[in-house]
Amino acid sequence: MQFQYVDNNKRYYTLNYFYRNKFNTKISKISLDGNFTCPNIDGSKSFGGCIFCRAGSTSVSGELKFDLDEQFEHKKAMMDQKWENAKYIVYFQANTNTYDSVENLKKRFEPLLEKDDVVGLSLGTRDDAISEEVYDYLADLNKRTYLTIELGLQTINEKTTDFINRASTLKSFENAVKRLRALKIDVVVHIINGLPGETKVDMLANIHYLNKLGIQGIKIHNLFLEEGTRLAKIYKDHPFPMLSREEYVDIVCDQLEHLNPNIVVHRLTGDPDLEYLIEPKWVTKKFIVMNEIDKELVRRNTIQGFHSSVLNYAKHIWEEKLNPYDIVIDATAGNGHDSLYLAQIVIKGHVYAVDIQKEALLATDDRLKSHKIDNVSLHQMNHKDLRELTDKKIKLIHFNLGYLPTGDKTITTQWDSTRQAIDAAYSMLANNGLITIVVYPGHPEGQKESIALLDYLTSFKHWIYRNTEQENAPYLALIHKD
Ligand code: SAM
Repeated sequence: MQFQYVDNNKRYYTLNYFYRNKFNTKISKISLDGNFTCPNIDGSKSFGGCIFCRAGSTSVSGELKFDLDEQFEHKKAMMDQKWENAKYIVYFQANTNTYDSVENLKKRFEPLLEKDDVVGLSLGTRDDAISEEVYDYLADLNKRTYLTIELGLQTINEKTTDFINRASTLKSFENAVKRLRALKIDVVVHIINGLPGETKVDMLANIHYLNKLGIQGIKIHNLFLEEGTRLAKIYKDHPFPMLSREEYVDIVCDQLEHLNPNIVVHRLTGDPDLEYLIEPKWVTKKFIVMNEIDKELVRRNTIQGFHSSVLNYAKHIWEEKLNPYDIVIDATAGNGHDSLYLAQIVIKGHVYAVDIQKEALLATDDRLKSHKIDNVSLHQMNHKDLRELTDKKIKLIHFNLGYLPTGDKTITTQWDSTRQAIDAAYSMLANNGLITIVVYPGHPEGQKESIALLDYLTSFKHWIYRNTEQENAPYLALIHKD
């Protein structure tokens, strides 16, 4: 399967791709230490920080320890050796980078924003550490640069949240996301897989929750134990199971399949300080973890957001079923997305693309031309007359019912002609051929069509695929000819 936001073979929305498309050039993220503290360390919320965090066990002075300008120039020189002509996003990661007065924040951030080719600022912080004045300042910053706020959530499970001493609530997190989004500030959320006591169900629940929040990015990593943390001590006294690399890869792939495809994946592995790392050792070979995730998605033939659309199931089936020389029909060409997808699979075969509307076929033609596809013929006709197309036996016939989303919504498929079209399609199928039908019961005509179709399907060998329990959600119907 192809993921929509890629220009390589990745199956998820990479940060590189996002930056390159947004800024038209390579972006180097320059990570700086602003010598901030954290309300979960200094006692205003709690002491000692989150139990996995090494910052919680080191003393932080609150005064600027390093010259940020020096830090920036040093890191920039290193980055410039890797990538020429890059632009820069300044990233404050350690501790809570909004936890100070606006005056002190300005002292740190403003000189950096003046620098040549700095196009953005990324601040890691806590949901409860953004004061009213700081929200105002962030709103102002967001008008002047590309601002991203990174919030550590780790998990939505309250028991775990207490156990790790995050010392905040889901409600507070949600409020912060809402306020930042109201200011149109991009939000990136961090979660950790493998927290003690959590199962895959918990880890997937984090994704389902975040999908609904309208965030722009996610960082996923595995729990690691570093020397000096409270969690390391707990582990030494009472060892608990840590995720193996195989388990982690499996969970991340499940999470990606459920993740909204518009959320940018900033990170899929942790970056522990090797000097302090206790477990797991596999995390030190980051590129292997990343490769294994890529390989597993290929093995599954899935992509980020796979479960967000039943059309993805249809595509998955087309790819499993079709050979490059096959002949297929797209009986509802519409804007040509499905015709294009099919044409790229049967690259040496043929796609008959059918639509009742001229506008639809013009749109399909444009799409195919822009992809230099020449194995598709276009036919303006009612699909109930499908038999007029050819006498050849057809391997697969696809229907994407309903109306053209960008066109006249009164021109929608109607049960009477859909039924005749299914009959015609069935009679044209080769042995072992398949009809895929994506059905949208969410609009009045679609509902009528769906009720009649479900009844009619009983006369065929058929299957129904649904990806949600939600009433009136789109579903996929399959008709098989032996
Ligand atoms: N698969 C399309 C794509 O990739 O963009 C979207 C299809 S759209 C949901 C449904 C299409 O069915 C519309 O373009 C509409 O014009 C077409 N249609 C409706 N009734 C039809 C009929 N009786 N015969 C052929 N096409 C029809």
